[in-house]
Parts: sequence; structure tokens; C-alpha cells
Amino acid sequence: MTALPANPTPPHPANRLGLQYRLEAARLPWAGPIWDVHTHLEDVPAARRFFEVAELFGVERVWSMTQLERVDAIREAFGQRVRFIAVPNYDASEDPRTFTTDWLRRIERFAEKGCRLCKFWAAPRGVDYSPELRLDSPIRREAMRLARSLGMAFMVHVGDPDLWFASKYRDTNRYGTKAQHHAVLERVLDDFGDVPFIAAHLAGDPEHLDRVQGLLDRHRNLYLDTSATKWMVRELSKKPGEFREFCQRNAGRVLFGSDIVAEAADLSFDLFASRYWALRTLLETDYDGPSPIDDPDLLLGDSGLSKSPSPEPPEPPAAWLRGAKLDTATLGNVYRAAAEQLLGNL
Ligand SMILES: [Zn+2]
Repeated sequence: MTALPANPTPPHPANRLGLQYRLEAARLPWAGPIWDVHTHLEDVPAARRFFEVAELFGVERVWSMTQLERVDAIREAFGQRVRFIAVPNYDASEDPRTFTTDWLRRIERFAEKGCRLCKFWAAPRGVDYSPELRLDSPIRREAMRLARSLGMAFMVHVGDPDLWFASKYRDTNRYGTKAQHHAVLERVLDDFGDVPFIAAHLAGDPEHLDRVQGLLDRHRNLYLDTSATKWMVRELSKKPGEFREFCQRNAGRVLFGSDIVAEAADLSFDLFASRYWALRTLLETDYDGPSPIDDPDLLLGDSGLSKSPSPEPPEPPAAWLRGAKLDTATLGNVYRAAAEQLLGNL
């Protein structure tokens, strides 16, 4: 016999608290414009839904990793509100040319369309797709030389949550350690010292802002974005004061990004709104309470893995959210000035 749930409608995984995101957006303190340097807008209908939410949260310009074939349509529909980041054709991941010859051709085509930012995704799990996805593979370096010659800056994804290294990346022979991935990043930062790099997700290490500071101090061409909401909320809420000081100290080098993925599979208002609400609450306020977003990663790691398998899927947990309440000048830098300085003319 199964007990009836007390609430027959399960809460939305992006709105466990039943927030009225439209009202909440208007209540957030920051009133200025925001530029989001890290989004994924799949096509025009998805982007239309996304921009409804973006407008509510004051996001006036975004950079999007959109497949080359859909760039023109999105630009036609949204004009200057969206700029593009060159990406391989992930729809054809099985084709060996996708990360080699086709990728080089696409970088040129993106550049012809005015794109001035090129993404090099090098998460540890990239080895499961293709050896070419290592950040310093020969083809990657060739692509970097090409992108540099076309006047592009780089965006990189290096590392992943510590919780993943403690679970799905335990095979360090295969996936490497976070320190090893950072060492590769440092080599590439040196070899392309004249190119600005935006390392997504706080260089993949919000767990250790001291290490990220070391990267920034050693590499003047390194910038960061704040994207990946669940990860940032989970880790930065453990140390809002340290995060505040980090943003103040590195003014101009920390850019706002969300990593919102707008795709046909899930166009729910709450999904997009929850990301902007949580990130803005983290940055602007001294909120001290539960995050409204399910965070299944909290089930990973040593404690999660050692539990015996249960017949019922575990209740999805949520992180605790503690705001860093950045001062107005620092917020202005993170939300727009840093991106304007770095990418305004790109
Ligand atoms: Zn992303």
C-alpha cells in the first residue's frame, strides 16, 4: 500500500518554494542592466521564451552558444540583444570531423558572422566523447591559433564540481584531477598570452577561491564567469564573505553568466527564472534560506555513494543559499562593466 502524498502536485524542481518569480524579480535590489556572457539559446522559439524571462530580470544582452546554422535566425529576431560564441556542431558528435576539420571551418564561418568569442569545452568527461576535446590536443591548439588570427577571445570550460571528482571522476587515470586540468589551462594561458580567456564557472573551482586567485594572479589574460547556478549557489553560499572579497579584489575580471540552456525540451518559465533569481539573490542580497532549485549533485560524493541502493529514488535535496550582498560598484562591474570592457567591441 502506498500512502497518498500530502501534496498531490509535486513542486517544480526549479521552484520548490512556490515563488512568484515575476514578483520576486521586481523586488531584487539591482535596477541597472545586466549582461549575461554565458547562455545556450537553441533556436528562435526557445530564445523568445528565454528573453521573456531575461527582460524581467534586467538582462539586456547575452552571449549564446548557438549552432552555426541557427545564428542568422536568432540575430534576425533579437538583433543586438544577442551575440554569439563559436561552438562545434554537437548535433553531429559521432562524426569524427565534428571536432577536427568541421570545427575549423565553423570557426571561420562564425567569424564571418561577426562572432568574436570561441568556446573550448574541456570538461574531464570530454574524454568519453573524443580525445580531441582535451584543452591542449593538437587540433585544439590549431583551432586556438585560427580563432586568435580571426580576432576572437576564448571561453573555456575546465574542471567540474569537486563532488563529481569524488564520484563519477574517481578514475583519475582516465579523467585526471582538477589540479591537472588547471595545469593544462595554465600552459595554454601562457601560450596564448595575448588572448583574453573567460574561464567558465569561476574556472571550474568555486570550491577553492584561493586557487582561482592564484590563476588570476599568474595570468593577466584570465577572466571568469559566474555561470552554473546550482554549483555556484551550493559552493559560494558556504563562504559569502570570501566570495564578496574575491569579487571586489578582482573587479573587471569576474563577469556575470548564467549557463541557462533554452531548448525545446524544456521551456518552462520557472526553469529560466529560477536561475536568474538564485544568481541575483546570491550576488545582491543577504538572503539566508533554502535554494528553490533541486540539486541532485548533493546526493553524490562519499556520503551519497556509500548508501545502499534504495527502492525509492531519494528525495531531491536543495542547497542552502546565503547571499554575498556585493556593494553597488562591484555589482556594476560583475553585471556589465567587466563584460563591456572585455567584449563591448567584440
Ligand atoms: Zn554552458
